[in-house]
Amino acid sequence: MIKVELAERLRHLPPYLFAEIDRLKQEQLRKGVDVIDLSIGDPDMPTPGHIVDALKKAAQEPKNHRYPSYEGMPAFRQAVADWYKRRFGVSLDAQTEVLSLIGSKEGIGHIPLAFAGPGDAVLYSSPGYPVYPVSALFAGAEGYPMPLLEKNGFLPDLESIPADVLKRAKLMFVNYPNNPTSAVAGKGFFRKVVDFAGRHNIIVCHDAAYSEIYYNGKRPESYLETPGAKQAGIEFHSLSKTYNMTGWRIGFAVGNRDVIAGLGKIKTNLDSGVFQAVQEAGITALETGDGELSGIRETYQQRRDALYSGLRRLGFQVMKPEATFYLWASCPAEYRNDSRAFAKLLLEKAGIVATPGVGFGAAGEGYIRFALTVPVSRTEEAVERIGKSL
Ligand SMILES: *Cc1c(COP(=O)(O)O)cnc(C)c1O
Repeated sequence: MIKVELAERLRHLPPYLFAEIDRLKQEQLRKGVDVIDLSIGDPDMPTPGHIVDALKKAAQEPKNHRYPSYEGMPAFRQAVADWYKRRFGVSLDAQTEVLSLIGSKEGIGHIPLAFAGPGDAVLYSSPGYPVYPVSALFAGAEGYPMPLLEKNGFLPDLESIPADVLKRAKLMFVNYPNNPTSAVAGKGFFRKVVDFAGRHNIIVCHDAAYSEIYYNGKRPESYLETPGAKQAGIEFHSLSKTYNMTGWRIGFAVGNRDVIAGLGKIKTNLDSGVFQAVQEAGITALETGDGELSGIRETYQQRRDALYSGLRRLGFQVMKPEATFYLWASCPAEYRNDSRAFAKLLLEKAGIVATPGVGFGAAGEGYIRFALTVPVSRTEEAVERIGKSL
């Protein structure tokens, strides 16, 4: 019998803070509790039919059954460039400034391998998507969290990063519209980021996974709309959240050609790209009219309004999201230092699963994240149950 030993990098993974909530949820389900799960960052609505039809058709084509190229079909990359032009007014060269990804998580997870290693630092906003620090760790680099504080509008305070960290910093992850806080950033912030990155020679990786989940017609901006942005970095994007395609695994990176080429080099050595039939469906998705998407947005907006007004009525301090399908609320005063205990209370007393903020990083302590991925009627019932449990 061999002795199976994990590599150093896996032994240094941060503790999985959602484990207890997962366990308690299973326990409630076993007891027959009608659990309402507001912890899931995965749309409950199906992929629009015309996209599924495009996949069916493309799946029948034998030419699509072979290895795809790692960088993506020219037609898919062109569809991405066309979409960026239409949506953001940003021009991209489909050949050199667009790279397909097997979901944006894949690109985020791999990019530090191309640009950072032992002795280097990777800056990332926190609370945030857990893949940012893990990708730094796997590359052997040091992850440096940039706290997102309410008093700063949940934007990182770039000037507070110590000089010795900046000297070693190679890459920075930022994400707006933001998961988990739902904050949005405008040109002013992106201009600061471009200027800062230029001064310190740091590659900007902006994660725009939620740019199309927005409310009241207020469309979030792309990082690449800011002058000089392309000189300083790239943007990660995904079809997952926009078109309810999380299971399909297709996303892309766009922007600075040298950064795209570096990430591409990792990919040529590791994978063979996205199944071509999925890329064909992705082209169809990117051509989806705004009518279809406004229906999806309308559904989230009704849920947002129900949950936001309900939580306010119950006395919660909560951000009204202008984008994303999350609500970020302060825990009641007695749980400001223990969001996990509050999540546990909601689960045991109300049968509600929500995500404790600390699971997204230390600066998320004292908050709780609710996802808008259940219908309005369930959302309303959740509010009622939370009210009774307090
Ligand atoms: C969901 C999500 C992603 C990843 O989506 P993919 O399905 O891998 O494209 C990336 N960033 C954030 C912040 C997310 O919430």
